[in-house]
Amino acid sequence: MQTAVKKRVAVIGAGISGLSCATHLQSLGFEVEVFEKSRGPSGRMSTRQGEGWSADHGAQYFTARDPLFKHALDAWIADGIVGRWNPRIGVFEGCRWRESSSNEPRYVANPGMNMIGKHLASTLTLHLNQTIDQLVPINNQWQLGSNESGLFASFFDFLVLALPAPQAAVLTKGLPSEIQEICYSVKMDGCWTVMARFSERPSLPFDAAFVNGKKISWICRNQSKPYRSGHESWTIHASAKWSQENIELTPQEASAQLLACAKQLGLDCSDAEISIHRWRYASGFTNPSPEFIFLPEFKLGLCGDWLNGGRVEGAWLSGRKLAGQIENI
Ligand SMILES: Cc1cc2nc3c(=O)[nH]c(=O)nc-3n(C[C@H](O)[C@H](O)[C@H](O)COP(=O)(O)OP(=O)(O)OC[C@H]3O[C@@H](n4cnc5c(N)ncnc54)[C@H](O)[C@@H]3O)c2cc1C
Repeated sequence: MQTAVKKRVAVIGAGISGLSCATHLQSLGFEVEVFEKSRGPSGRMSTRQGEGWSADHGAQYFTARDPLFKHALDAWIADGIVGRWNPRIGVFEGCRWRESSSNEPRYVANPGMNMIGKHLASTLTLHLNQTIDQLVPINNQWQLGSNESGLFASFFDFLVLALPAPQAAVLTKGLPSEIQEICYSVKMDGCWTVMARFSERPSLPFDAAFVNGKKISWICRNQSKPYRSGHESWTIHASAKWSQENIELTPQEASAQLLACAKQLGLDCSDAEISIHRWRYASGFTNPSPEFIFLPEFKLGLCGDWLNGGRVEGAWLSGRKLAGQIENI
């Protein structure tokens, strides 16, 4: 008896959208390989690890509204990877503090936001430290090349780009203009993120806070989330507007300005150890949102948060739904 040849799919990007697409395709019987430029999976759902401390420095938590995503969430909760987070949340607005009135359930991965990515990647063939810089359409298939390894010998029946739009745009230079136009249609803003480690817990009347009208837009005590051990650490995100306007500052300059703003808000980091990270493409999305893009004539799909609302849930759904389309081909 002849066994059916499995279709091969290359997924570029091991953020939540790429991983959700890849795991679903794998469950449908496709042979999937994931290529990621960083040294670990998770993308913008990541956790910075230091000596004796850690901090979620990308996505802080997520919400779940769609039944498909809720189903995945239930499985992660059952596996002990995700739990509810019940912080006291402050809101700074019009020069004063108030308590947040939102009671929508918030979820976090444990012990760090990168756990969902690690969990999803655990059954996949994942090529880390591979910055893909060549996409070669050849004989109705795709061949890839990376900055680190040159052209790979393998060929793929489908290609999935699970990247922020501007990074997909760079990669698709040289491909037909309709593909490039999609990627160039969305601008994404950066985000400066400061992580502060304290020897003692700062006394603030909240675990996390939304800040409006300032350089900073979010402050969060990592230890208020479940299963976070190590030194007291706080994550401070600059606003999208300020970050984008100041994206070319040096880390020292950005950090100095954000720490001065944090001090005004009551978080004095003078005695804290500071790290800073610049997210070049943190946020941005198309409106209306197509959820994902599949171009069967090119055997090419695009998924990611920018195609579906700009958050964790949207990114996961984007990848999952794209996989469903590829299955139907
Ligand atoms: C600071 C910050 C705070 C956020 N807070 C929240 C929040 O609280 N709640 C929420 O729901 N969402 C939040 N988000 C948004 C959320 O993180 C994203 O929506 C989601 O993680 C996007 O997943 P993705 O798979 O679409 O993209 P990404 O996570 O960006 O994944 C893309 C991957 O592609 C890789 N890559 C890029 N180029 C290449 C290449 N050439 N070759 C190989 N690999 C490549 C990248 O390294 C990355 O791993 C936040 C994001 C940021 C940055």
